[in-house]
Amino acid sequence: MDPRDEQGKIWMNGEFVDWPDAKIHVMSHAVHYGTSVFEGMRCYKTPNGPSIFRLADHIRRLFDSAKIYRMPIPYTQEEIVEACKQTIKVNGFESAYVRPIALRGYHSLGVDPSKCPVDVAIGALNWGAYLGEEAINVGVDVCVSSWNRMAPNTMPSLAKAGSNYMNSQLIKMEAINGNYTEGIGLDVHGHISEGSGENIFIVRDGIIYTPTVGSGILPGITRDSVFKIAEEFGIKYIETSIPREMLYIADEAFFSGTAAEITPIRSVDGIPVGAGKRGPITEKIQKRYFEYVNGKREDIYGWHDYIK
Ligand code: PMP
Repeated sequence: MDPRDEQGKIWMNGEFVDWPDAKIHVMSHAVHYGTSVFEGMRCYKTPNGPSIFRLADHIRRLFDSAKIYRMPIPYTQEEIVEACKQTIKVNGFESAYVRPIALRGYHSLGVDPSKCPVDVAIGALNWGAYLGEEAINVGVDVCVSSWNRMAPNTMPSLAKAGSNYMNSQLIKMEAINGNYTEGIGLDVHGHISEGSGENIFIVRDGIIYTPTVGSGILPGITRDSVFKIAEEFGIKYIETSIPREMLYIADEAFFSGTAAEITPIRSVDGIPVGAGKRGPITEKIQKRYFEYVNGKREDIYGWHDYIK
């Protein structure tokens, strides 16, 4: 994915503009202080046409993020839902990655953002498997980062705010420099938190473990889908504090995320996880997740929002 390749239209403050014209001023508050909240969603090609997966849940989280930062979005959730669907339609996508963002725009440069206007934009682009096509089947090699995720009284992790991704970037760059695909951040207590852009799950003795929302994670929508799918299979899942070394003695581990979907983890810090390849529970959950997102399974949870 390279936005420079992209053409077509971006929804910006209520109207569609050409991709090159979707601009903000360099003195906008967001540019200097990271004052933005955003979402990442996937639109999948299904037998009933394109559908943005769990669109309403993502837009709810966008508004939650904005509320945490006292950022009034000058549209209703329903209007943004509709605008996302229109963005897919206007650009003629069958499948896409969809990125709505609300940011504090151009007014004054003091730290207090309250006088700066809230600009809202929605872009959509082609984006393949985030951690690599092969990774979906064979898994990724990851490391535990020397960077922690944010302590709970520093940056609110339940908000998907642009500024949180400075921390993510440190984790990701360190991982890539060490020849790993992704890094795992620990929380303020040294327990497992999440990847730079994914939630993490560990399987041991047939039980799934994942960190709680108190461990500095973003409460992933895909994480929630994993819970539902685990329930369908009668697989127990536990949200709890997880010490780092659980990664080394796990039978299986995987990431979840809109971009990463369900990606197996085959090694951590050079230590193979289980058999060093995608495990059977990961495979089961991954397969069903893909059936749901691709519209190959009855949508019993109302996860699909079709573009008419
Ligand atoms: N944690 C972080 C830091 C993320 O950036 C993401 C991706 N949005 C996730 C978790 C997974 O969230 P979701 O499943 O809603 O995409």
